[in-house]
Amino acid sequence: MNVIVLEPSDFIGEGVVRLCDRRREHARKHLRAEPGDRLRVGLLDEGDEAPLPNLGHGEVLRCDREALELRVSLGERPPAASGIVLALALPRPPTLEKVLQQGTALGIKRFLLFHSRRVEPSYWDSSLLAAAALRRHMLLGLEQCVDTVLPRIEMHRGFAAFVEERLEQERARGVVVVADPEAAEMCPCGGEEGSLCLVLGPEGGFVPYERERFAGLGDRMVGLGPRILRVETAMVALVARLGGPPTVLWK
Ligand code: SAH
Repeated sequence: MNVIVLEPSDFIGEGVVRLCDRRREHARKHLRAEPGDRLRVGLLDEGDEAPLPNLGHGEVLRCDREALELRVSLGERPPAASGIVLALALPRPPTLEKVLQQGTALGIKRFLLFHSRRVEPSYWDSSLLAAAALRRHMLLGLEQCVDTVLPRIEMHRGFAAFVEERLEQERARGVVVVADPEAAEMCPCGGEEGSLCLVLGPEGGFVPYERERFAGLGDRMVGLGPRILRVETAMVALVARLGGPPTVLWK
């Protein structure tokens, strides 16, 4: 936890919060916070507009077994978001947890979960897909990377409508890149102007019809080489490659 993320309900007075949950525990056990210490805090931003200057510090007023109380002063902007929209064939719940946490930590602000042939249908009934559970995992990502802006999640249970209609909006805004171990083209290293939607397949991969559908709609199929990676590993490698400026290898 590199920042304590606050919510409006934490405030007990003007600029003062009282925390009695795992955030108190973290401050007491790991930070050994004492009155007078300054801790990094941020107020969760769930808005759709430009990020608010919601990062700042909290001066410890009290930190004991019952409560952590802080006098909060905010005013700094969170780090710039990644421009990448991450579309993910719904993976099994433990994988989704990792992707949400790590994707959020890498600055992803929009996740699109979609169905495809090799997605196990029961995954759509997982308790992880409840709003509160999704939010918990994204909060862990924000706490890791010192950010305050909560990502959005969309769910699309029909493959055809997702690929033909929802992704059309992404094609209109920029490029759609489909990561597939069978792709002939190697994933480029940055340099893509404008918006980018990265699509990852399910643990069992895409079926031929699905590959043809993406390719037929003009999406770029890219690979990371012959090693088949776990979805969460492929996600990190792809976001790192695609998200940065063009790479110049050292000479
Ligand atoms: N047996 C499946 C493996 C899927 S791995 C298959 O052969 O397709 C799950 C997803 O992770 C893939 O659909 C892809 O989006 C991503 N991925 C894993 N390894 C990759 C690689 N080497 N190159 C590109 N994408 C990869």
